[in-house]
Amino acid sequence: MKLHVVTHPLVDDVLAALRDKRTASAEFRRLAHRVSLLVTVEATRDLPIGETRVETPLETTSARQISRRVVAVPVLRAGLGMLDAFLELVPTAEVGYFGLERNEETAVARRYYEKVPKDLKDAVVYLLDPMLATGGSAAMAIDGLNGLGARQVRLLSVVAAPEGVAHLEQAHPEAEVYTAALDRELNDHKYILPGLGDFGDRLFGT
Ligand code: URA
Repeated sequence: MKLHVVTHPLVDDVLAALRDKRTASAEFRRLAHRVSLLVTVEATRDLPIGETRVETPLETTSARQISRRVVAVPVLRAGLGMLDAFLELVPTAEVGYFGLERNEETAVARRYYEKVPKDLKDAVVYLLDPMLATGGSAAMAIDGLNGLGARQVRLLSVVAAPEGVAHLEQAHPEAEVYTAALDRELNDHKYILPGLGDFGDRLFGT
């Protein structure tokens, strides 16, 4: 499985503020948007493009446009914090949703909602899930996407744990992971260390 850790001074800068426990929700949302833009740029670098013609005010010229179907699938609810940034950069993307909830005691994910465009075999599917912790929910979501025909799935995350990367590597070696940070480890409650806490809680102020 290919793991891409996005390295850029702007990523370091935004991560420092995201990790800070004093950062309140309104600011956290802006920062989540900013880091998602940076990860999206990296994860779309090799999208196929096709030639087209456009008329500028002065003449006709050749131009290039994304020629592949792109589907974004945020995992509810934390993945919503990445969606606007993704759509800002790929406005033609179709959007699906996975509702996955992790049991706080067992850290095992349960799927409670699914609304994803059908027949994904010709699409590049971007799964938006900011915290790759155990990898259980990401693997479950990729199972679901593969069940809908997806052949190319890329997970966009903000922080990943080595345990989650290893789990995905074993469950879905064909998937690709793009993340802003690869952190040290999980704690006993399956939270990422040093991490940034509960992404969904910090995003929505719960
Ligand atoms: N989900 C989160 O929001 N944070 C973690 O550290 C792990 C899973």
